[in-house]
Amino acid sequence: MKTILILEDNEDRVAMFRKAVAALGDGFELKVWWDAPSICAECQEYFPTAALISLDHDLNPMPGTTADPGTGVDVARFLGDFMPVCPVLIHSSNIDRVYSMQNELRFAGWMVDRVGPLGTDWIETSWLKRVREILAEHSNTWKAELLPDHPARVERMKLSLDGLAIGDALGEMLSYRADTAPRRLAEDDLPAGPWFHTDDTEMAISIACVLKSHGRIYQDALAKRFARRFERDPERGYGKMTRIQMSEIIAGARWTDTAANAFGGQGSMGNGGAMRVAPLGAFFADDPVRCAAEARASSLVTHTHPEGVAGTIAVAVAASVAWQLRKTPAPDHAQRFFDEVLRFTPESLVQRGILLASRTPRETPSREAARVLGNGSLVTAPDTVPFCIWMAAHHAADFVGALGRTIQAGGDCDTNAAIVGGIVALGAGREGIPAEWLKSKEAMQIG
Ligand SMILES: [Mg+2]
Repeated sequence: MKTILILEDNEDRVAMFRKAVAALGDGFELKVWWDAPSICAECQEYFPTAALISLDHDLNPMPGTTADPGTGVDVARFLGDFMPVCPVLIHSSNIDRVYSMQNELRFAGWMVDRVGPLGTDWIETSWLKRVREILAEHSNTWKAELLPDHPARVERMKLSLDGLAIGDALGEMLSYRADTAPRRLAEDDLPAGPWFHTDDTEMAISIACVLKSHGRIYQDALAKRFARRFERDPERGYGKMTRIQMSEIIAGARWTDTAANAFGGQGSMGNGGAMRVAPLGAFFADDPVRCAAEARASSLVTHTHPEGVAGTIAVAVAASVAWQLRKTPAPDHAQRFFDEVLRFTPESLVQRGILLASRTPRETPSREAARVLGNGSLVTAPDTVPFCIWMAAHHAADFVGALGRTIQAGGDCDTNAAIVGGIVALGAGREGIPAEWLKSKEAMQIG
């Protein structure tokens, strides 16, 4: 089956589109949306079969509704976040806005053309003629490998992402008086929401979007998401090297080059791969081998140094193990957690640090543990990940306690708490996260 997706608010035109699509022959089905929010919410499920998307710009609200119908530019911007799916034809007479739509899509790599709605029979003549030509030259280019339990994976991933975002925001806000964090979290003595999250969550959202759309880490799509989110909203506390890499990608560089060239060709061993990856561990929680491979792929888009990669794998596997062990009684939990993470983490300083963490008693005060294991002050993976794994191992389902003790240790508080929050949320479950905190986190759209 091939689908033609149309955004059009005029009933007469929709009737003519139906006729025209019928004239194309049996292989084609038509799906129509009347406003921008609806097409953005629903069109993804049609990506695998889409042969063509045809978009209007100016939209009137449906009779009896007051909701904003949005415009074709909203849809072009939404589509531009994805890898190209199929050709797009713009059928609007609003020339300036047609160019705005065309610009959005072309810079995002989509094939796009336009047809002017002139006269009364343009749909059955010029539109249909152009559609036939386009369909002869272009086909669907969407790549997705969704497993049968995809919706359950996405739900699990969202739980981890919520934990990550809350940890990120709280770590950022409480870092200036880190020693008070356990008490403030326990007493819910916190700033009013919504809580602004930082780069950790921004990049994790991109990972979640790519997994939701493609069912695997498609590196081109991930680099594109990272760069587009950065371009729209750069003031999220991104590290210097990430800012350089994102700016270069926006200017047209390949992510393979920008990642390999970081730090004079050594590649980055920063904690940026690890800070964003827990939701990926949730998505592949059933399969640690696949989880480690996908985590590696996600790291390489920005962090190619073996230590950066090892830290990313360790955190992703930790998240998957947190999910698997969520019903395991406490005494046995930490040791099994460490064993699994160590088994899949490549030999590295990160791995050695995790081994040391596994021998560091649970009762060790946070700051003392941080002195031994690191707390991200150096913003490297070996200085960040072992401490976070230690904390997550000993707080299987204690989300509030884990974040309090993590932030208390100081260092890169938002990143540490993002990592720990993204892992421990999977052991604690949604019911283990204070409901008020879930409401206070900044809104996130996983498109
Ligand atoms: Mg941050």
